[in-house]
Amino acid sequence: MNLNSKLLALDKVYNVYNDFASGINTFCKKYCSLCCTRDVIMTSIEGYKIIQHIISEDKTHLFEKIKSSAELKRLQPGITINGLAELCKDNDNDNLAEEIKTPMGQCPLLINDECSVYQDRPFACRCFNSINNCAENESATIDDFVLTVNNIFLQVIEHIDQGGFTGNLTDILLFLEPQQNCENLLSGKLIDLPTCLINNHSLKILMIPPEHKNQAQPILKALKKITY
Ligand code: SF4
Ligand code: SF4
Repeated sequence: MNLNSKLLALDKVYNVYNDFASGINTFCKKYCSLCCTRDVIMTSIEGYKIIQHIISEDKTHLFEKIKSSAELKRLQPGITINGLAELCKDNDNDNLAEEIKTPMGQCPLLINDECSVYQDRPFACRCFNSINNCAENESATIDDFVLTVNNIFLQVIEHIDQGGFTGNLTDILLFLEPQQNCENLLSGKLIDLPTCLINNHSLKILMIPPEHKNQAQPILKALKKITY
């Protein structure tokens, strides 16, 4: 699938999630930014969408902040969510120790408590649906079923972006800043990735706990209707 078809599919996936999220009671809203850390993980299509936003909205000054962020510690995943699902299926518990760290500093795209790419923010930023006010409780609390649904969407987005890659927001945006890398992604040319970025996997098994299987069916049905 070419990148434009992937982007169309991604928008449809976001619409399905918006329908689901419209039924959730949540404290999350625009300008609420305690969760906007440097540890956002996303796929290359989400990065491409943000790069296009930055260029078309004349916000290239953001690259200075992104470059500064690259000098600081941040979460860099060693495995994608579909890779993790395969390991879980194979019970390879030795490799399940994903690096979960405490948030370290602000996202470079957060300016004056506002996301500078809000309408094109990645899924990881769309799926925080905290039932608590983080400012009062120091952390988000997300309903178990919402967490399951979020994982389904993360897995589907990675599946759509097969041939692409996953990584920290800062690393992906810096990698895609040179026009040539964006053009290579657009044309599906093999890209020589830096070690901080990892190849995406196809979706082989969904991570849905037994108690959520029935409840998740309408969402799975809506996602299956998306052609990709
Ligand atoms: S997760 Fe917390 S900080 Fe982030 S938008 Fe929701 S309520 Fe606000
Ligand atoms: S991309 Fe936007 S919404 Fe996501 S963490 Fe950064 S500033 Fe927050």
